[in-house]
Amino acid sequence: MIKFLEIQKITQKYSDEIHRAASRVIDSGWYLLGEETNRFEKNYAHFIGTNYCIGVANGLDALRIILKAYIELGIMQEGDEVIVPANTFIASILAITDNRLIPVLVEPDINSYQIDDTKIEEAISPKTKAIMIVHLYGQCAYTDKIGEICKRHGLKLIEDNAQATGCKFNGKITGSLGDASGHSFYPGKNLGAFGDGGAITTNNKEFAETVRALANYGSNVKYVFDYQGLNSRLDEIQAAILDVKLNYLDEDNQRRKDIARYFLTRIHNPEVILPKVQDWESHVFHLFVIRSAHRDNLLQYLNNNGVQALIHYPVPPHKQKAYRDWNKLSLPVTEKIHNEVLSLPISQVITDEEAETVVKTVNSFRQNDLNK
Ligand SMILES: *Cc1c(COP(=O)(O)O)cnc(C)c1O
Repeated sequence: MIKFLEIQKITQKYSDEIHRAASRVIDSGWYLLGEETNRFEKNYAHFIGTNYCIGVANGLDALRIILKAYIELGIMQEGDEVIVPANTFIASILAITDNRLIPVLVEPDINSYQIDDTKIEEAISPKTKAIMIVHLYGQCAYTDKIGEICKRHGLKLIEDNAQATGCKFNGKITGSLGDASGHSFYPGKNLGAFGDGGAITTNNKEFAETVRALANYGSNVKYVFDYQGLNSRLDEIQAAILDVKLNYLDEDNQRRKDIARYFLTRIHNPEVILPKVQDWESHVFHLFVIRSAHRDNLLQYLNNNGVQALIHYPVPPHKQKAYRDWNKLSLPVTEKIHNEVLSLPISQVITDEEAETVVKTVNSFRQNDLNK
């Protein structure tokens, strides 16, 4: 069976360096808010191309804290609206509703699966304060039009960069394109920790200081609390491990791209719609997502024939019980995508032979295979 993702194999690649980094932290006796986190924050800010990086406990917290900081700074208030793609992972939406802000769901483009920038302006109201773009599947969602809309309407641009670490737009790295960006180091992400981890990047000093205080009980000076904050910190041990893996990120993303290029040139099956790549800089293939009108048959066929495929995501946020008030909303593009998408195995440790097997298996699928 070709596994969808082999994290153990990924870890083995840098095993010695990681063991050394982890041992250093264990032996130091200092596990939170120390020099490992400082160093990683500096290196990650440099990598992304922003002035500031603040480590937090996970990607959801990164997004929650960004919005909380805008509320503390008086830029947003309860009931304000944030535009967000309707086909995102639930965390983008949770971050908004958790702050008593209102997500305004905008349909994606059927070719790129990214927020449809021609449908954003009609979603703007006097209460709109921000657009949260999500670089879904590892592909850049930013467009010049989105930047221009934010400027013209005075909106904050927030990036959910959880899936796109290392992705570029016109030479700039995603996470540096807007006012603030949330990052995730969940083990399965392109830059994965050994547990949960996340970060916020920004160029704004006041905002960065607010975020740092909010993630540390609302405090920048010990036992002085300026905000009703929370406890959301990146552990020293995770920071040390991430700092090792950051050195290999571009190389690892390049391997993902090579596999994606191989899939794109070799998969030929009329039942399958391949992802469209405009520019190879702007996609780091966190996921390789294909579409098929016979998705469920294809999924079963692949799994029966030794290729583990998954669905990202089977049910869109507006059809979830958690958001039952929205269950009747009609978002046809989003719903079509959720009914048809399938993710093939892709990572920096997929071998050439495995990639070849994936291609052969996808190519051998026929619509009626399972009914015969
Ligand atoms: C993974 C993910 C998150 C949340 O990150 P966690 O670290 O798991 O909390 C947010 N948004 C998107 C699009 C994600 O894929």
